Amino acid sequence: MSSTAPKTNLLGLPHGDLEQFLAARGEKPFRARQVLQWIHQRGVSEFADMTDLSKASRAWLDKEAEVALPRVLSRHDSTDGTVKWLFASGSGQAVETVFIPEPARGTLCISSQVGCALDCAFCATGAQGFNRNLDSAEIIGQVRHAIMDLPRRDNGEPAVTNIVFMGMGEPLANYRNVVAALKLLVSDWSYGLSRRRVTISTSGIVPQIEKLGDECNVSLAVSLHAPNDELRNELVPINKLHPISALLEACWAYAGKHSNRFITFEYVTLRGVNDSLSHADQLAKLLIDKPAKVNLIPFNPFPGTDFKRSSADTIHHFQARLRQRGLVATTRRTRGDDIDAACGQLAGKVSDRVRKRLGDKPVRQERMRNKKTRRASA
Ligand code: SAH
Ligand code: SF4
Repeated sequence: MSSTAPKTNLLGLPHGDLEQFLAARGEKPFRARQVLQWIHQRGVSEFADMTDLSKASRAWLDKEAEVALPRVLSRHDSTDGTVKWLFASGSGQAVETVFIPEPARGTLCISSQVGCALDCAFCATGAQGFNRNLDSAEIIGQVRHAIMDLPRRDNGEPAVTNIVFMGMGEPLANYRNVVAALKLLVSDWSYGLSRRRVTISTSGIVPQIEKLGDECNVSLAVSLHAPNDELRNELVPINKLHPISALLEACWAYAGKHSNRFITFEYVTLRGVNDSLSHADQLAKLLIDKPAKVNLIPFNPFPGTDFKRSSADTIHHFQARLRQRGLVATTRRTRGDDIDAACGQLAGKVSDRVRKRLGDKPVRQERMRNKKTRRASA
C-alpha cells in the first residue's frame, strides 16, 4: 500500500468484514474479535494500545487502518436528563443523537442520514431535505461516543441499554450501512445488545422490511400516523408507493418470521388532522387481532410548521378508544424539548441536495390546510 492511499476505517466494519480485512493481510480469524473488543467495548482507537496484538500487527495496522470517529460539535443537557450531541458530517453539516435516561433503561436515539428525502409533512428533518447517507462508521460512532461519554449505570453496565433508529433519516433508505451497524450492535464482540433492545423505525419501505426480516430481525417500529390511504398519502408521502395494505402485509410477515414478535405502530397526533375517535376506530380495525401495539406520539412543533399538537384530553380519549377496541396503546412522554431533542425536532445542519425546499413547503402545507377545511366542512 502506498503512503498516500487512504486508510481503512475499522470503526464501521462488522465481524465478517473485519475478519476478511485482517485475513487479506495474513492475520488469524480470532484477531477480528480482539480488535472489535478493543474498539467497541474498551473504547480504544490507537492500535499501539491494543496490547494483545503482536508488534508487527500493530505496525501494519497503524499504516493501513484507523479508527476514525465522527467529530463532536456540541453536547446539550436537558433539565430532564436527556442529552443531545451534534456530530459533524462533512461540508459544514451535522446530525443529532439523543440519549433518554429512564429508571430501568437508557435509550439512545441515533441518526442514519443527513436529512431525509421522504418529506413527511410534520417532520423537522424532512423539512430540511436530504443530503447523504451516513456510512456505518458514522452510525456506530454515535453509539460508541455516547457510551464513552456517559457515566455507567449503578450496576456497572453502560448507560445505553437500548438503541432506536428514530433520529434523523429513514434507516431503510440507507439499508446497507444500517445493517452493518445493526450487526455491530447485536454482536457479542462489540455491543452485545439483544435484538429486542434494538429498534428500527421506518416510514414503511416495504421491500426493505422484507429483506430486514431475513437478514437481521431486530425490533420494528412503523410510522403509520394515519388509518387510511387518503390521509396517509398527505402525511407520509411514501404511502403513495407502498400503501397501507402492502405495508401491513409486510409487517405481519416480519412478525411471523420471529414467533409473532409485536410491531410498534407510531402515530403522531396532529390536532384536527388524524386525532378523532373515528380515526381511532379505523386504526383499531386495521390492527386488531394482529401482533401490534400502538405508540401515540404528541406532535412536537418546530419553526415553520402549521401543525398543532392534539390536546392531552384528545390524546387520552384516542388512547382509551384504542384500548376499548382491544389494542395495546401507550402514549410517548415528550423528553428533552427544552434542548430541541424531542421526536421530530432533530434538524442538525443539512443542505438539501434534492430540491429547493423553502419554496415548496408552504405550498404543501397550504394544500393540507385546504384539505382540512374541506373535511371540516364536509
Ligand atoms: N424515518 C424514520 C425514523 C425517524 S423519525 C421514521 O419515520 O419512522 C422517528 C419518529 O418520529 C417517527 O415515528 C416520526 O414519524 C416521528 N416524528 C417525526 N416528526 C415528528 C414531530 N414533529 N413530532 C413528533 N414525532 C415526530
Ligand atoms: Fe424522514 Fe422519518 Fe422524518 Fe418522514 S418522519 S421525513 S421518514 S425522518
